[in-house]
Amino acid sequence: MKYQIRVNRTAHSNLPQIDFDNLSFGRYFSDHMFVAEYREGKWQDLRIEPLSEFATHPATMALHYGQAVFEGMKASKSHDGRPMLFRPQMHAKRLNFSARRLAMPAFPEDLFVEAIHLLVGIDAGWIPPKKGSALYIRPFMYATDPFVGVRPSQTYRFVIFTCPVGPYYPKPVSLLAETHYIRAARGGTGEAKAAGNYAAAMLPAQLANEKGYDQVLWLDAQEFKYIQEVGTMNIFFVIDGKVITPNPEEEGTILRGITRDSILHILRDEGYTVEERRISIDEVVAAHEQGKLEEVFGTGTAAVVAQVYKIAYEDKEMVLPPISECRVGPFAKSYIDDLRAGLRADKFGWVEPVQLPQSVDA
Ligand SMILES: *Cc1c(COP(=O)(O)O)cnc(C)c1O
Repeated sequence: MKYQIRVNRTAHSNLPQIDFDNLSFGRYFSDHMFVAEYREGKWQDLRIEPLSEFATHPATMALHYGQAVFEGMKASKSHDGRPMLFRPQMHAKRLNFSARRLAMPAFPEDLFVEAIHLLVGIDAGWIPPKKGSALYIRPFMYATDPFVGVRPSQTYRFVIFTCPVGPYYPKPVSLLAETHYIRAARGGTGEAKAAGNYAAAMLPAQLANEKGYDQVLWLDAQEFKYIQEVGTMNIFFVIDGKVITPNPEEEGTILRGITRDSILHILRDEGYTVEERRISIDEVVAAHEQGKLEEVFGTGTAAVVAQVYKIAYEDKEMVLPPISECRVGPFAKSYIDDLRAGLRADKFGWVEPVQLPQSVDA
């Protein structure tokens, strides 16, 4: 361990009050959090302490000007009870990619990973044991200067807290292709996991819900033609045996999902034909009309894979084959669940056992 992280353990764990068989997503919080403060150009005051509220100055810059970025990842338990992380360095890198776009300071990647090991090690009892359940990890950074005026903050807080989440069997979802609002434009912040992106997406999502759809399928901002992604998931299409997903580098607007990246590696390794390229909504409509649209699914840390059962675009509604006929999405999901449970050889080196803390000072 390279960094000095102070540890102050709670004297009153909330764990006895948690029912691992009834966990709704994002409502229960484990005992501890990691906190670091950025002052005078460096990260300091590194600590793990009981989860608690922060005092907030009314002029806290993040609240007014939106300098806030986050990550979402999971710790799971292997079949023999060992806590495991999944590609934590990728999340550390992406946090810094997001921070850079919002003119926020980088957080040392090795400290990010070390803090997660220590925090998850201390709260290892909070990782639900059932396969598919997990400890959801939420690292985030926000601007803390009490200041009125638009410029980058000079102080920031970086926090990691965790939530036990139940086995997530996502129901198939319906999507509405959005032809009025956009999520992101080239050159904007769509590639960053920035808080403001989600604020901007809430009204369109609400309107889609009112029309009976679960989520918005975002199209590109110039032509409302090329498919981008879904609320908090990247998207994959299976057309005539080929797996197609938009290319974030080509679009410049898409969040580079780590689940997306993992699934691309897995499918290529398994011999699937995979194409990362622009895909228009018209191509999807045409494939559906020809009976070649075999499967559509979204990918993200929370659900891993969520199968899509219906897509609406303008006056057309495309109903997809039932999940029992889907092969690619369910295969990718079970592959990743098995990896996280230590039930499949980790040929890509993605799964990392948590280094349990040996002794912990008070
Ligand atoms: C987090 C997120 C994803 C999925 O990323 P993962 O790393 O796979 O969890 C996709 N799209 C958006 C907009 C996201 O915020």
